[in-house]
Amino acid sequence: ENLGSVSEKLFKIIIIGDPTVGKTSFVQRYVNETYRRDYKGTIGVDFALKVIKWNEETNIKLQLWDIAGQERFTSMTRVYYKDAHACVIMFDLTQKTSFQNSLKWKMDLDSKCTLPDGSYIPCVLLANKCDLQHREVEQPEIENFCKENDFIGWTEISVKENLMVEEAMKFLIEEMMMKY
Ligand code: GDP
Ligand code: MG
Repeated sequence: ENLGSVSEKLFKIIIIGDPTVGKTSFVQRYVNETYRRDYKGTIGVDFALKVIKWNEETNIKLQLWDIAGQERFTSMTRVYYKDAHACVIMFDLTQKTSFQNSLKWKMDLDSKCTLPDGSYIPCVLLANKCDLQHREVEQPEIENFCKENDFIGWTEISVKENLMVEEAMKFLIEEMMMKY
């Protein structure tokens, strides 16, 4: 019987993707429930902490790593990926190249970050800025891409309008709770 003890789980989640797709805005929205038009590109790595009461027995501490200003493939990413439990790869629906580069990000991640059993860490693909009209990437294309490249799932989101941000993270947490 549980005598009132609460267990705590700590998960490290890394957020990667091309510059300007909305990574910093996403972290700020999810952690601080705010949205601003400009986050000055910090150099290095920013991280934010969010504590969630998952249920009566479990608290979850999420450490969200924002790859601020290091959006290039350097040896830096290896340090950044170290001991991550899950990953968010983000692109901008109105910037085709950011979608194409999602594959480079996934390959960089999988080549540097595997679990002790050899499997890849759970990774979701987030298609941001669905509030904008002029999109350059269509749903069937994203669907195929996601299946072919071992993402656990994808969704369109708008950090600006606060659409699907919470839901996407809940999905990722559920995945981690099953896996770890
Ligand atoms: P990062 O470089 O990936 O960290 O991107 P930022 O979070 O700095 O965002 C880049 C720009 O995109 C900023 O001007 C944001 O306000 C804007 N932005 C972020 N999310 C959205 C969104 O959902 N919709 C729209 N229209 N703009 C967004
Ligand atoms: Mg940023």
